[in-house]
Amino acid sequence: MADYLISGGTGYVPEDGLTAQQLFASADGLTYNDFLILPGFIDFIADEVDLTSALTRKITLKTPLISSPMDTVTEADMAIAMALMGGIGFIHHNCTPEFQANEKFEQGFITDPVVLSPSHTVGDVLEAKMRHGFSGIPITETGTMGSKLVGIVTSRDIDFLAEKDHTTLLSEVMTPRIELVVAPAGVTLKEANEILQRSKKGKLPIVNDRDELVAIIARTDLKKNRDYPLASKDSHKQLLCGAAVGTREDDKYRLDLLTQAGVDVIVLDSSQGNSVYQIAMVHYIKQKYPHLQVIGGNVVTAAQAKNLIDAGVDGLRVGMGCGSICITQEVMACGRPQGTAVYKVAEYARRFGVPIIADGGIQTVGHVVKALALGASTVMMGSLLAATTEAPGEYFFSDGVRLKKYRGMGSLDAMEKSSSSQKRYFSEGDKVKIAQGVSGSIQDKGSIQKFVPYLIAGIQHGCQDIGARSLSVLRSMMYSGELKFEKRTMSAQIEGGVHGLHSYEKRLY
Ligand code: IMP
Repeated sequence: MADYLISGGTGYVPEDGLTAQQLFASADGLTYNDFLILPGFIDFIADEVDLTSALTRKITLKTPLISSPMDTVTEADMAIAMALMGGIGFIHHNCTPEFQANEKFEQGFITDPVVLSPSHTVGDVLEAKMRHGFSGIPITETGTMGSKLVGIVTSRDIDFLAEKDHTTLLSEVMTPRIELVVAPAGVTLKEANEILQRSKKGKLPIVNDRDELVAIIARTDLKKNRDYPLASKDSHKQLLCGAAVGTREDDKYRLDLLTQAGVDVIVLDSSQGNSVYQIAMVHYIKQKYPHLQVIGGNVVTAAQAKNLIDAGVDGLRVGMGCGSICITQEVMACGRPQGTAVYKVAEYARRFGVPIIADGGIQTVGHVVKALALGASTVMMGSLLAATTEAPGEYFFSDGVRLKKYRGMGSLDAMEKSSSSQKRYFSEGDKVKIAQGVSGSIQDKGSIQKFVPYLIAGIQHGCQDIGARSLSVLRSMMYSGELKFEKRTMSAQIEGGVHGLHSYEKRLY
């Protein structure tokens, strides 16, 4: 083996570690935990590390983080928050096409707020506040969206009521319609912002010409739009948004609604994407909507990737069986350890300029760094973002712990909700449903407004230790062989975790 000389230094440094090519040369599949990256030389601060990376051939993100199209991870709130922080969210399709398209269309406008009626009580407002963490609830005649607006209840209306007043009707405490500043349906975000600024209110109800409530806008959301320099935006300055669709005939209608709503990128949602159905769908989309970016998948081998790249995909989603809620490998006998899958597909796809998303199996920020170091351009997460404030679903308590539900889209639980998720995992005519995922819960993580900045800083620090000033430098170091890896034995993995303590608290940020 050749030794090399560090110029101007004190002598030869023996070659150390494995290149990525050497690491993956054996037939063993490796997970993120099976290897480490050897540290390099630091001559810059972590803050300077540029995380800009390609999502697809034509879309670049400032933050390489993506929320997964799962019904316990990404609806409008998550997609907006991810885009604000420079990443992107993919709205799931375990719902009607209309619901999914609406989640995109109303970015900035809240179309499914908690609404109450005048006959609800102060107690109902307090409960809504506890569950959803906000106040400022619009009151309509029937307590639903689309019904006549009759008032609004804010914290100010109820804060000074005594405990026993929880039964007070909202009709007695609400600010009535006549005193409200509202905006007409069709108002732009910019106009709404100006109205909110003038009125100095926290919420702006949007009503149609029959005075029925169609949306509300919150001052805090508009403020966020101004405060996020990394935000992912399209050429019309709208936040970027992705959505998942399947490959059936009726998905074409879903696709039409999503494109009308201005979706920027579609992911074809399949656990095994190398199929005639997906290839046909890629052709269909590319012909009907040539400018729409299409991500194919999931794949874990170069041979699978080849067919989708030949069909014309703009990005690939990589991972089969590595997700935290996934039992695909157990049940279908197919899949691949995620480290190997990411390296093999990325190494092939880069020749065609197709970026890849490392999807699933991310448990720590270190796993994100490893995925990127193996050639992924971005990383998609489910469990890591589940149970945040922005994830769909309500918090509940179990044994005193605050939790939110998190489930696989191939779990029986999810499939019972709608047929779309069945399509990801089954053929239409299947008589027996075989679950490929489980349903569980995850402890409250707070808002991704805090969690994603932690991930971003963690990735920057990882790159700094490696000596990579940017993600593109990181990838070229890997492909040139400069980046060195080492396999971890079981005992190395135990040594690399906390050990030997009587007790400890693990606070991450
Ligand atoms: P996680 O980040 O490890 O929780 O994995 C999330 C990923 O698991 C998703 O982005 C999907 O690719 C995948 N996934 C979602 N639902 C299922 C399922 O039911 N079975 C198998 N994989 C799933």
